[in-house]
Amino acid sequence: MDNGFPSLPALQTALRKGDLSSAELVETCLRRIEERDEILHAFLWVDADGARRAARAADARLEEARRAGETETLPPLLGIPLAVKDVLAVEGMPATAGSRILEGFVPPYTATAVARLQRAGAIVLGKTNTDEFAMGSSTENSAYGVTRNPWNPAHVPGGSSGGSAAAVAGGLVPAALGTDTGGSVRQPASYCGITGLKPTYGRVSRYGLIAYGSSLDTVGVLTRSAEDAALLLSLMAGRDRRDATSAALPAPDFIPQDDLRGLRIGLPREYFIEGIQAEVREAIEAALDVFVSLGAEVLPVSLPHTEYALPVYYLIAPAEASANLARFDGVRYGAREPADTMWEVFTRTRGARFGAEVKRRIMLGTYALSAGYYDAYYGQAQKVRTLIRRDFEAAFEKVDLLASPVAPTTAFRIGEHTADPLAMYLEDIFTITANLAGVPGLSVPVGFDGQGLPVGMQLMGPPFGEASLLRAAHTYQGATDWHRRLPKS
Ligand code: GLN
Repeated sequence: MDNGFPSLPALQTALRKGDLSSAELVETCLRRIEERDEILHAFLWVDADGARRAARAADARLEEARRAGETETLPPLLGIPLAVKDVLAVEGMPATAGSRILEGFVPPYTATAVARLQRAGAIVLGKTNTDEFAMGSSTENSAYGVTRNPWNPAHVPGGSSGGSAAAVAGGLVPAALGTDTGGSVRQPASYCGITGLKPTYGRVSRYGLIAYGSSLDTVGVLTRSAEDAALLLSLMAGRDRRDATSAALPAPDFIPQDDLRGLRIGLPREYFIEGIQAEVREAIEAALDVFVSLGAEVLPVSLPHTEYALPVYYLIAPAEASANLARFDGVRYGAREPADTMWEVFTRTRGARFGAEVKRRIMLGTYALSAGYYDAYYGQAQKVRTLIRRDFEAAFEKVDLLASPVAPTTAFRIGEHTADPLAMYLEDIFTITANLAGVPGLSVPVGFDGQGLPVGMQLMGPPFGEASLLRAAHTYQGATDWHRRLPKS
């Protein structure tokens, strides 16, 4: 544990054997947060006392089970600390969604994804920084300051789950939860050199997630390996009666097996465009060679409607956001600006406490939904979205998985894109399609650029195809060690 953490299964074994206590593990996290988070700013809130208390309780339970020779039946994550992106509600902990409008809001309930991990024994150590309402690709849109990339603090960690990505890559915590509406788990995982899984839409309950684009939002994981992602997903997945879109599929056993013979990986031609940083392209090509050496077959495919993905996403996501964010009125949640009339409370609170990007999206979305424009914008975007989804269906008749870059570049410098929202939106060009189509996507580290910044490769699978995605990534990680590299602390 000199800098990073062992895998979750290895932590589980060490805790059960008594080689490591949960208290030691939690103290290690807290010490590293103390040492490193002043620079990284991955966390918005740390529950040191609560985590210490939970660790003591876990250690007592572990001790008792060891004495009785019954550690096998303990919950799988007992005593393991995790971090949670600040758009997921955890009872009794502040939830800001990176926004001043939710300052002071403490939800009285816990998101299902988090509650299931807690039931499996995990300890929520704290809440991580995010772009305001998860709108962004760099975590620079947080109202509470930027998060920095552990590989180079002059660079962004990606976003919007940049706090969770920096917390895992920086060795502050063994794993973290994020959310992905257009790439917000996969892109920061890629920029920070870790593994990020965005599940199929509906695989994991969205209950307790502060909604951004409800038809696109997913709860995902940021981990050190596909093996860890598989374990967390298997514990979070499944039907939840509090989310009508959650799938009634039993949570499958995701623990993958090493065999890629016969696996067909498609390379969508529209994702290997000019303008991709040369080092990104080279690292992806080298990774594909490894997949071939492991028995996979690589073949070209086409997703012909890819060019419409960005405009379609930037109609649908803001439209849904404008509706979802209407609830923040200074009355029901969080902060309120004082005023004499109710109307003034609404306008002053929203005017003072939403950031510039959130306002931009609310205006875009409101316009796209307004009478007379609905059919021309939102309705049309939904039709094109169907074409994008059909592209994926057709591709998955020919291949098992798709591979592409996660983003056209490695982590850019803090401030580099802040003046140009469109340049920022382009960072999502390869990830938003999976959300529009509802399919699962995984980001795996495959190398570094000349500046020592990590490169990620994206694998996408058919709906509910997480098992084969994770198996492929796990096998690749068995043959390579990119995912084991750590930034200098
Ligand atoms: N960067 C994209 C956006 O700003 C995606 C964000 C996300 O996945 N939450 O909408």
